[in-house]
Amino acid sequence: MTVHRTNTLIIGTGFSGLGMAMQLLDRGRADFLVLEKAESIGGTWRDNTYPGCACDVPSHLYSYSFEPNPNWSQMWSGQPEILHYLQGLVDKYQLDRHIRFGTECTGGYWDEVESRWHITVAGGDEYVAQFLVSGVGALHVPSTPVLAGIDTFEGAAFHSARWDHEVDLAGKNVAVIGTGASAVQLVPQLVDTVASLQLYQRSPAWVLPRSNFAIPEPVRRAFRQLPLLRRLFRDSIYWLAEGMALGLNGHSNLLRPIEFAARRFIAREVRDPELRRKLTPDYRIGCKRILGSNSYYSALTRSNAEVVTDGIAEVRARSIVSSDGSERDVDVIIYATGFHVTDGFESVNVAGVGGKKLVPQWKAHGIQTHLGIAAAGYPNAFFLLGPNTGLGHNSVVFMIEQQIKYVLQAIDFIDGSVAEALTVRQKVQNEFTADIQRKLSVGVWSTGGCSSWYLDSQGVNRTVWPGFTWQYWLRTRKFEPADYEVVVPRGLGANSGATSESEDVLA
Ligand code: NAP
Repeated sequence: MTVHRTNTLIIGTGFSGLGMAMQLLDRGRADFLVLEKAESIGGTWRDNTYPGCACDVPSHLYSYSFEPNPNWSQMWSGQPEILHYLQGLVDKYQLDRHIRFGTECTGGYWDEVESRWHITVAGGDEYVAQFLVSGVGALHVPSTPVLAGIDTFEGAAFHSARWDHEVDLAGKNVAVIGTGASAVQLVPQLVDTVASLQLYQRSPAWVLPRSNFAIPEPVRRAFRQLPLLRRLFRDSIYWLAEGMALGLNGHSNLLRPIEFAARRFIAREVRDPELRRKLTPDYRIGCKRILGSNSYYSALTRSNAEVVTDGIAEVRARSIVSSDGSERDVDVIIYATGFHVTDGFESVNVAGVGGKKLVPQWKAHGIQTHLGIAAAGYPNAFFLLGPNTGLGHNSVVFMIEQQIKYVLQAIDFIDGSVAEALTVRQKVQNEFTADIQRKLSVGVWSTGGCSSWYLDSQGVNRTVWPGFTWQYWLRTRKFEPADYEVVVPRGLGANSGATSESEDVLA
């Protein structure tokens, strides 16, 4: 076993981990390493390569403010261009020398004597660091339903985030399961290639019209030459998106006009009343992520497409039997069934003060942190895109940036003090949790009449930030040392190994 020592250990090379790495370098803090389980960078933008994969947030906003790209070719860029953008930044900052590829974090613990994190990786090596930053995100562990009889299926079956490019879909009978953001993008790409497309729908999504468009070269040139113009464009997109926040957070009547537009869109696109009925949601728009596509509904009206709303009863060698007893020929099954979200943090199941493992704590009490960033009892550990910092209306890259700035302030504060480690006070974490849960209780995700992956198994919203994103900026803008307490190394002082004022009760 080799032990590697560093000041700051980052896990993951998606938008979060790479952003953190770049900002550390920008501050002259080169003593850091980044662990990446795969052999290349990109996180979700490496893993998702399904046909039509793109970001549904405009690219000028879904990119770092400190690394703007005036050259985005489209309003909503595809996965290859986003991955290219990230790779370009890795090259520019020479991050390769900090990244350890093929290095999967398997666990770790806070050493209470040394005041350091010890993180173990597959293969047995250990990484020791004063600061630990998780950039693992929430949408990286595919969720695949266990279907009765799936073991007998003789065709190919794969998840949208693990697309099997070896499988030729031309002329095949293809079953797509799920109707979320991924399905809406991939279904229109497949329908003209396959012999038949069966879309197994548990509940329909609200879909708004959206036509992507190329950003013409003269506009890109103007963005290159006039950074202020590009900034104005980005800011306009941001404030337009913020306009949705009121409706999502307690004023769902404001969403009615948008829902009306979505109904009109279905009516225009889908002439068959039975298909229209199937595709029209019975919950308030915004309760699940609002999707945008100009080609989804029209794809489903094709003669070779069918929307199956009866659940899957059984999979056979070359077919699927739905709960009404109908049997349809199937050569390939594609799971567009989303991700393990509230349990997606298992890859950072570290033990904190007193040896308490993070994941069992979160399983027992729900995922709780302060500001979605720091968890009481886990000193010097920070989560990027942690709980309740996801969004239904704006760019998560904005949230990541606020978190990075906060973490940098925390690190600077610790460096400038006599303390080796701080942990957020349990009371502060409890108050934050109570506050956001009170706000979320009136949010459309809870009141809109749907179930979604925003809610955990107890029905508590552990994923979305309630309110405007500028409110998050306001709350994270200044690191408040008073929210934290010093962790005294074991062997020093009366309360050694424990926090000085711990209220060991989760809300
Ligand atoms: P998702 O939104 O969680 O959708 C999963 C779909 O699978 C839902 O329609 C769900 O039905 C269905 N499903 C799950 N288990 C099922 C089962 N056992 N039987 C039948 N249907 C089942 O997943 P996703 O589409 O992969 O998207 C996940 C998230 O990734 C998005 O919300 C978004 O945040 C992100 N994403 C973003 C983009 C982008 O452009 N930025 C693109 C793709 C994904 P129910 O609705 O009934 O639960």
